Amino acid sequence: MVPKRVANKRTVAEAMENFVWTGDIHGVATPLVIDQFLQLCDVSLKYISRLQAGMQDSHIWRLSPSEQYTASSAYEALFQGSTSFEPFERIWRTWAPGKCKFFLWLAAHNRCWTADRLARRNMPHPSHCLLCDQEEETINHLLVGCVFARQFWLLFLQRIRLGSLAPQPLASSFQNWWQEAIAAVHTARCKGLNSLIILGAWALWHHRNWRVTQSPCCLNVRQG
Ligand SMILES: [Zn+2]
Repeated sequence: MVPKRVANKRTVAEAMENFVWTGDIHGVATPLVIDQFLQLCDVSLKYISRLQAGMQDSHIWRLSPSEQYTASSAYEALFQGSTSFEPFERIWRTWAPGKCKFFLWLAAHNRCWTADRLARRNMPHPSHCLLCDQEEETINHLLVGCVFARQFWLLFLQRIRLGSLAPQPLASSFQNWWQEAIAAVHTARCKGLNSLIILGAWALWHHRNWRVTQSPCCLNVRQG
């Protein structure tokens, strides 16, 4: 609403003096214009005491330490305050088949139909983990907490001489274990290990599903 020839002829300090800038506004005062006007009033009252007469104005970019605009700082600013999904790279930038990656994606979001999830929806579910028959089946138990799963990972990882990375008895989070295992290997091996862990987790899930089809309780449910 301020003509350019007017806007360019004053410094900010000059425009602020006696609220000269308000006389520069021309045109129809729409609600948007009034709203911006009020916002500018607030800003001018806040900063007027900091302005120095005779100083030239210059633009600064507050989103980078150098106060100079860069495309990368603008790009990063777009994502400030947003949440990033940490295992994104571990899952998608691997050589594992798509269906296995998709399963891991669901597991990371706790969207697999394990017994705990079925129970929350009052759906038929096995009372205990079908692999160890000891604890409630959750995705974390199935992939890393179960004694069967830990034995599987040990044998699996021993084949590539990484048996020491197998989950320990107190491991309770598959994602945490995965993150720690990857941190323990050289960067050049990360993609390969990620791919193998995805395949291993998929094999465990596949085996669990096979056990479900063999389970008497599940057979009864199907027959019922
Ligand atoms: Zn188990």
